[in-house]
Amino acid sequence: MQFFRQHWNYQLTMEAWCSNLVPQVADFWAHIVSNHSPQKIEFVGTLLIQISFFWIPAVFYLLLDIIVPSFSHRHKIQPASKQPTRQEIARCFAVVAQNQILSSVLHLALLSVASRAGSGSSYRIEKSLPNFAEIIRDVVMSLLMREILFYYSHRLLHIPYLYVRIHKKHHRFTAPIGLAAQFAHPIEQIFANALPISLPPQLLHSHVLTFWLFLSYELFNTVTVHSGYDFFHNKAQMHDLHHEKFNLNYGSVGLLDWVHGTNKLEKRRSD
Ligand SMILES: [Zn+2]
Ligand SMILES: [Zn+2]
Repeated sequence: MQFFRQHWNYQLTMEAWCSNLVPQVADFWAHIVSNHSPQKIEFVGTLLIQISFFWIPAVFYLLLDIIVPSFSHRHKIQPASKQPTRQEIARCFAVVAQNQILSSVLHLALLSVASRAGSGSSYRIEKSLPNFAEIIRDVVMSLLMREILFYYSHRLLHIPYLYVRIHKKHHRFTAPIGLAAQFAHPIEQIFANALPISLPPQLLHSHVLTFWLFLSYELFNTVTVHSGYDFFHNKAQMHDLHHEKFNLNYGSVGLLDWVHGTNKLEKRRSD
């Protein structure tokens, strides 16, 4: 009885909290939309999401080794002998920073072209918030579309001609780290990393807040699956194994690996 009373009180507190928070967020959002151009909102918001959900978690995973070494070693998927050196990590940092600058400059250029052509943002930017059903629909659709775009572009990059010239760079980290998620050739950065995430919400004409929600998930997910840690279990192990063995687990959510029979984690692990 005590448990149900506590649970009920907790639910009431959550509802009160949500009913207070949503109007505040709605007011804050309406204020931003009224006072800034759609291009500025899209660019600054996207950059803030990249910093919060890519750079900060990537640096956090790197620091785990220094802050809590015993915890870090307990959760590392591959042995210490395979981990990258300090020089390799520094080089990774420089390449990823270059890719971030490239993506941001291209984003700015596209927004400027769109602005001259008389259109605002690639996403829907309006004073109202997207409703819950629309958010769920667009995120699920975007996840599926991203899986298709990423799986096939990634498999294409494993064709020997493209592998040697483009994708080999990303595979340099056979024991990856979070930051190495964007350690890639510029062509790969644009066509296999950025486009499969940014295109689906544009095609669906999603609200920009829905796009940012989807982007946050995808960035945090890609940093985590490259982190080299067994957090979120199979998720990190799947892509870690792709870096270690090359010819399996090409996708993101695992759906197309299952369809094409390239999800051979269990078989490989038990070999
Ligand atoms: Zn990777
Ligand atoms: Zn690959």
